[in-house]
Amino acid sequence: MTLTRRRLRVTGTVQGVGYRPFVYRHAVDLGLRGWVRNDSAGVLIDVEGEASTIDILQRLLVEQAPPLARVTSVTSEIVDSTAAGYSSEGFEIVGSDAAGAASAPVSIDSATCDDCLAEVLDPGDRRYRYPFTNCTNCGPRYTIVLRVPYDRPMTTMAGFAMCPDCLAEYHDPANRRFHAQPNACPACGPRLVWHDLSSGQRATGDAALSAASAALRSGKVVGVKGIGGYHLAVDATDAAAVGELRRRKARDDKPFAVMVADLESAATVVELTAAARAELTSPRRPIVLAIRHPSDSVTDAVAPRLPELGVMLPYTPLHHLLLADVDRPLVMTSGNLSDEPIAHEDRDAESRLGPLVDGLLSHDRAIHIRCDDSVVRASGRQPQLLRRSRGYAPEPLSLPFEPSRAVLALGAELKSTIAVTKGSTVVPSHHLGDLEHLATYRAFLQAVDHLPALYGVTPELVAHDLHPEYLSSKLAEELDIPTVAVQHHHAHVAACMVEHGRTDPVVGVTFDGLGYGTDGTMWGGEVMIADLGGFERISHLRSAPMPGGVAAIREPWRMAAVWAIHAGVDPARALPAVDATSVAAVAALAERPGAVTTTSAGRLFDAVAVLLGGRSRVTYEAQAAIELEALARTASRRQLPRYELVCEDGVLDPSPLVAALTRDHAAGMDSALLAAAFHESFGRAAAALAAGVASDAGLDTVVLTGGVFQNALLTEVVESALTAFGLRVLVHSLVPPNDGGISVGQAAIAGWISRSG
Ligand code: ZN
Ligand code: ZN
Ligand code: FE
Repeated sequence: MTLTRRRLRVTGTVQGVGYRPFVYRHAVDLGLRGWVRNDSAGVLIDVEGEASTIDILQRLLVEQAPPLARVTSVTSEIVDSTAAGYSSEGFEIVGSDAAGAASAPVSIDSATCDDCLAEVLDPGDRRYRYPFTNCTNCGPRYTIVLRVPYDRPMTTMAGFAMCPDCLAEYHDPANRRFHAQPNACPACGPRLVWHDLSSGQRATGDAALSAASAALRSGKVVGVKGIGGYHLAVDATDAAAVGELRRRKARDDKPFAVMVADLESAATVVELTAAARAELTSPRRPIVLAIRHPSDSVTDAVAPRLPELGVMLPYTPLHHLLLADVDRPLVMTSGNLSDEPIAHEDRDAESRLGPLVDGLLSHDRAIHIRCDDSVVRASGRQPQLLRRSRGYAPEPLSLPFEPSRAVLALGAELKSTIAVTKGSTVVPSHHLGDLEHLATYRAFLQAVDHLPALYGVTPELVAHDLHPEYLSSKLAEELDIPTVAVQHHHAHVAACMVEHGRTDPVVGVTFDGLGYGTDGTMWGGEVMIADLGGFERISHLRSAPMPGGVAAIREPWRMAAVWAIHAGVDPARALPAVDATSVAAVAALAERPGAVTTTSAGRLFDAVAVLLGGRSRVTYEAQAAIELEALARTASRRQLPRYELVCEDGVLDPSPLVAALTRDHAAGMDSALLAAAFHESFGRAAAALAAGVASDAGLDTVVLTGGVFQNALLTEVVESALTAFGLRVLVHSLVPPNDGGISVGQAAIAGWISRSG
């Protein structure tokens, strides 16, 4: 028997996920000799045995990897005879080598695994009802890591010294908790604390949990500290409690997410497709948007007038215990006031959430990185991420090429994320929020330092939005690194191209809110030919003034007045719900030369929503358009009236469509039918336009992107029309179509440009 000796290099997310014990077990089973260790590049294995046996191990390294591992590559080299011999006869796990630049990614925060849950529910187990139980297959990661390499002293668990029992698990290669950095038990780990803000009473441990459950059962609002921040929780079946939460949070209509105990309970609340089940039970545990059951137990006030409901399953032992004790669905919404960022630091939570809650259920394990729940829509043809945050960040996505310089991309302004490139991958940050809030801006600055450091990247190029007034653009100028300004909608298209591994030219259709154009006006209804190197704007929506600027976003009736005028309709008659003086003032404002104009499709949807009888003022972004889609979904798509739009010299003019809709609405035609007809007519016209552009340019692929494509009905219409033209349609799935995806597109464009100079 001839023995060979090889070194196997494993890269990817392979630290803090139980990878070394997994290697150890298989190596021992196969009778191999050698060692495995973590280093700054990932995991290194030095192994001696029969060549065919080592081949088996090499295959298992990928095929049988532990649940949280993401193996990018396994490479192998022969060890030359001068290498140091082994210090033992068998196989062993040796200490980490922290030298060199950190480059081993930190894993995602992951939902409690079945093994840990079984312990938490077992009265005989030493972790019975312990809310911070975790192991190498589950638990917090990204949100507790201060620095790399990922080791307990570098996490917010540093202050908790493990008890002898926990230490024994930690050092036992055969144990599920071998090197589980957040390992803890009731004897040595974090503790729950309850603070009743009205009585001032405090409790700890299981008594804290009982007090919080009792408060929730009696309709109180409770702040609950989770993985990435605090939630505000109330009984989702109690209309008065939900109403009280809305009042205190100053949140009128924006839907809340609901946490239910298990899949069975979820099925009583929403329609569960196979995709929805898979998303709900995945260790990433996002909020899953699914079609709501009409006769559910969740009160209407949770998501007023919407056909969908956001549902999630418990992802920490604390959630499991709380849901079991309260025994009804709970609203679990970000712990903040209105649009501020989620509270994640204890003192900050006391002061900011104090006025909103009756009690706080907290604990003493600090959250280093604030991370909101992710949101996935699972009611469409394929799941689509609308917010990519906890459970996804900081996982890298593949780029279809390797940039020659490391790029830091600073994103846009709303729904901000940043991203950094590392080799041929791009790492998007967690969701940061709207930069206009000071606390969000601070989180943004923290991410700009933290994310490159986690990945051991020194940015050599900074990509930012073309908009000179975005805070992210301003920061780019201050960083003293060469910058690349990227047009907003080009970035949207590029983000979608990255998902599909494309670098070559496509037709990009971007229907969006607002984005700064190369001509200094606000774009948002664009058809372009684009690749990663550049774009050409071929066609766009007819531009319209935005009377009052951002006021036109909060008050969509202003855009309705503008489009009525474009359509030759008297705005005062088209808007009976708005007082005539205001309408006249806005009409005059719109005519004024020098008014801000936009080609935004989002603003057109707002306008049509109002003209068909929808709300004239919104309480959250895109509310009018979202309710228009909901209304359209109630109509049958068969026998819809068809309306025409005109396209001349590359300008798509929806005025004839608006005129016809307004006329038929005034004549008493059903508004649901008209809403559906609008989606159908506008979507088909856009598809015909894109198909014409594709055919002229000899291209076969169309990308659909921008915030308006969160509208699933519009996406269906455009996609099926384009498919009928024989075109390939690319839509988003892993990167949000909204501005949360901008940083990924910016990184790809700047990275591509870095190769050519
Ligand atoms: Zn576990
Ligand atoms: Zn312990
Ligand atoms: Fe956008």
